[in-house]
Amino acid sequence: MTNKAIIAGGGIAGLATALRLHQIGWEPVVIERAPARRSGGYAVTFSGIGYDAAERMGVLAALAERHITPDKLIYVRPDGRTRFTVPGPTVRAMLGQRALNILRGDIEDVLYTAIRGTVDIRFGTTVTAVSQDAGGVDVTLSDGTVERADLLVGADGLHSATRRLVFGPEEEFRLDLDHMTGVFMLDRLPSCVEAGSTSTLTDTGRTLAIIHLGEGRSAAFFGYRTGDPMAHLAEGPATVLPRVYGDMGWAAPEVLAQLPRAESVYFDTISQMVVGGWSRGRVVLLGDAAWCVTLFAGFGSSLAVAGADLLGTALERHPGDVLTALREWETGLRPEAEKKQKLGRRVKGLYAPADPFRLWLRDLPLRFASYRPVSAVLQRRLQLTA
Ligand SMILES: Cc1cc2nc3c(=O)[nH]c(=O)nc-3n(C[C@H](O)[C@H](O)[C@H](O)COP(=O)(O)OP(=O)(O)OC[C@H]3O[C@@H](n4cnc5c(N)ncnc54)[C@H](O)[C@@H]3O)c2cc1C
Repeated sequence: MTNKAIIAGGGIAGLATALRLHQIGWEPVVIERAPARRSGGYAVTFSGIGYDAAERMGVLAALAERHITPDKLIYVRPDGRTRFTVPGPTVRAMLGQRALNILRGDIEDVLYTAIRGTVDIRFGTTVTAVSQDAGGVDVTLSDGTVERADLLVGADGLHSATRRLVFGPEEEFRLDLDHMTGVFMLDRLPSCVEAGSTSTLTDTGRTLAIIHLGEGRSAAFFGYRTGDPMAHLAEGPATVLPRVYGDMGWAAPEVLAQLPRAESVYFDTISQMVVGGWSRGRVVLLGDAAWCVTLFAGFGSSLAVAGADLLGTALERHPGDVLTALREWETGLRPEAEKKQKLGRRVKGLYAPADPFRLWLRDLPLRFASYRPVSAVLQRRLQLTA
């Protein structure tokens, strides 16, 4: 009989899991809260174990087609003058050969294309209740149906409902790193930003980056410190971003003017999930729902795809024994996820340094990144090499 998995969440983790489980002969069903596929998002570096997993899963070539190479990184002053530049070839060399710079939405798009027509994806639906016994898990959906399955995968992100329903309240697991982030696609590149660049202004405790992605696409990235991330989350980006960035200068006024007409705005706390034991019986968490290493570490997409790949491998190795497969999967993956979580906590101060001296210190190695010994140190520090 075919094994069935309900996958809550159709982001990178959920879609990758659906693809991998389909490849090993399972029947995955994806339950996605959003009414339709999301697109765009922010540019991520996709490397490490996720890159290897994407190759094994047969989606690497399609991902590589979406790779974006920035011509250069430009670090600017509030008046727009350039402080220093990191040339594109240096950025490329630092990322290494087996790395892609790609939009989050494009990773989802590739995974979605790989499973479309073969996997049941139910948009506009959520998981509302879960109960399990020795033989399976019953998952109640918001449309009133109940699905019985061999496995429920909670791939529903940082604020996972699956985790809340089965593991406990979010507050028990969330470690806030005292920063917020906001991202949205721009309909126009600000006039002060050079095409083909990623241009960044950091002043005390806040960063604004404009990423030009080619073909008339660009994104604004906000990252700033706050002592009360949950209060900012409750207030929402329309109120908070103009308040925090209103006096920043450079591209901030033009970008903030585009905020009200942005199609969708990603705005969230920068928080890790510290969950001791990623499964409870036949319910397993995967991706940001389980570990959320954060953008500070920069390996979340990669870990999501690798997690999906390794889960499929473990389930294939233990046919009919889901619990052993889940244990083996976690034992194999946890050291890497915890290593990236540690990295995230270690480098959190680099995103929006609290004072000019720390900013100067942060930028020092970047200024000299064209020199091989300096870029080698940066690579090691940011774990860009395996
Ligand atoms: C600004 C930024 C920069 C980043 N940079 C990098 C980088 O350079 N490299 C890298 O590898 N990673 C990076 N990441 C991290 C990476 O984007 C995430 O780790 C990755 O996308 C996680 O995917 P996920 O599928 O686990 O979660 P999500 O993307 O949050 O997906 C969860 C999905 O579940 C759905 N959902 C939510 N609740 C429910 C529910 N109740 N029922 C059903 N569906 C639900 C959501 O709609 C969504 O589709 C970055 C993240 C941010 C925010």
